[in-house]
Amino acid sequence: MIASLYIHVPFCAGACDYCDFYSVPVAPGDPRINRYIDTLLAEGEDRINRFSVERIPSVYIGGGTPSLLGASGMGRLLQGIAALWNEDPQEITVEANPESADEAFLEACGEGGVTRLSLGVQSFHEPSRRAVGRVGAVLHERLQLIAERFPQAFSVDLITGLPFQDTYRLQEDIEKALAYKPGHVSLYDLTVEPGTPLEMNSQLPDRDEADRLWIAGRDTLEQAGYQQYEVSNFALPGKRSRHNIRYWRMENWLGLGPAASGTLIDDETGTGRRFTNRADVDNYVASTYREIGGLVHEEPLDRHTLMEETFLMGFRYIEGPDRGLFKKRFRLGIEACIPATLAAWRNQGLVGPEPALTKGGLLFLDLFLQDTLIEIEKTFYL
Ligand code: SF4
Repeated sequence: MIASLYIHVPFCAGACDYCDFYSVPVAPGDPRINRYIDTLLAEGEDRINRFSVERIPSVYIGGGTPSLLGASGMGRLLQGIAALWNEDPQEITVEANPESADEAFLEACGEGGVTRLSLGVQSFHEPSRRAVGRVGAVLHERLQLIAERFPQAFSVDLITGLPFQDTYRLQEDIEKALAYKPGHVSLYDLTVEPGTPLEMNSQLPDRDEADRLWIAGRDTLEQAGYQQYEVSNFALPGKRSRHNIRYWRMENWLGLGPAASGTLIDDETGTGRRFTNRADVDNYVASTYREIGGLVHEEPLDRHTLMEETFLMGFRYIEGPDRGLFKKRFRLGIEACIPATLAAWRNQGLVGPEPALTKGGLLFLDLFLQDTLIEIEKTFYL
């Protein structure tokens, strides 16, 4: 089997107001960090053997805050996982926060075979950063280090719709980020969860203004040569995230670490299995991997569910779902599954020939997916 690896590092320095990823706050040197690495390596070995994974095309170490593992923790993790494969993955990405991505950490990443860094900048404008719980004054210094060690092989995350943000500030954020020549930029539209402190922030732009900001940001990135290849992702030629493309194409991946989830697909039957680890770091680190069985939830993905998920993920990607893979799995072409939806959206110029949403169509992804799911239900299940 060929499967990518997602490794979830469930530690953060604090909690950001807008975030719903699983993590627990830790201080440097917390003993759970070392125990987590031991369990994770045991889990990786077990999963790779159990599912006979012969090749790992990509690895993504995300979180949480992977840079909180520090240079020695990250070095040990990278050395440990490298023992699990015979052939090096084409891409190994590590997410980092500016505050903890110091020179020693970046050196450990480079020596451990990391090919790509993803840095959570969010904004350079201090009041906007502070309003969502981001602190630290080392952004420029860290970006400079990363640009020197991983030239163009790094991504910068920016957020639009932040408190105190306007078009001028956003343009400034993008200009400052691009000055370091990242190969890739993720531009996220801030999602404000109901009931969070952020929802009460009177400096938040309203929904229409937030949409305008994101579109202005998109246009600036495109004018600078970064092609939008997914809802929130932009890249220079040859710099797309291979790992994330595998998610959008619904290709196999294993998830390791607390709260991580993985999906394995049987192309012959068009069905799959999803494995999700319990979001419980204390139990995870207290277990030897042999005991973790009870912490993994396994659910079957029947043909219907998998087809829906293939559309939900695939139409996020500018090239749409992989047509060859779709036909192999479901013995049907994409056009044959949702002919009415594609025709209606093509008439409005929002779907191209591939079939895939155009740049304008991606702005209405949710509506398109609603139509798609309704048509699948009517065609196959009513
Ligand atoms: S550092 Fe990242 S993962 Fe951690 S709470 Fe903040 S946004 Fe979430």
